[in-house]
Amino acid sequence: MATRITLIHGDITVQKVDAIVNAANHTLMGGGGVDGAIHRASGLRLREACRPLGRCETGAAKLTEGFDLPARFVIHTVGPIWRGGDRDEPRLLASCYHSSLQLAVDHGIRTVAFPSISTGAYRFPLSRAVAIAVEAVQAFLADGPPLEEVRFVCFRPGDAEAYYEEFQRRDIPFGEPD
Ligand code: ADP
Repeated sequence: MATRITLIHGDITVQKVDAIVNAANHTLMGGGGVDGAIHRASGLRLREACRPLGRCETGAAKLTEGFDLPARFVIHTVGPIWRGGDRDEPRLLASCYHSSLQLAVDHGIRTVAFPSISTGAYRFPLSRAVAIAVEAVQAFLADGPPLEEVRFVCFRPGDAEAYYEEFQRRDIPFGEPD
């Protein structure tokens, strides 16, 4: 199946996809940034659904329902904190994308939206994070998994430019969501 890659400037909590990905912390109990926004929009049932899941390791992913979100599911993944780049951060960030997409496929999810994991409070340099994100998604899609769309959601003004440049560099066709 040819998967559409799309790019949009906006808020991930309003995306109408099967699953949105949350850049969570180890506790999965909510936090700041996109994590806080997702928990606020999904409601308290999200926190209750996360509680029995326990700790989530960096680079791993866990699934819950989306509750009050338009998305049916939330995939919670924990990005690496940037500590200069020699603490395995690139591999761990790539693992977030791979683990999230694998979990999606395992649950029959067809459309997935990602925020720019680790590029906020966790301080991963944006252009490096985007290169890793796009490469990891491209590698996953190379096997032809049953995914219809992978959407990158850029929240900060100007972030979309980094994705745009990476798509151009890799000659990846992309569009806007329907
Ligand atoms: P991390 O701790 O992984 O760095 P943050 O939430 O601090 O997570 O930031 C990750 C990215 O999510 C940043 O690019 C930030 O601009 C973005 N972000 C924050 N709020 C939202 C939102 N509502 N929708 C999409 N992206 C968001």
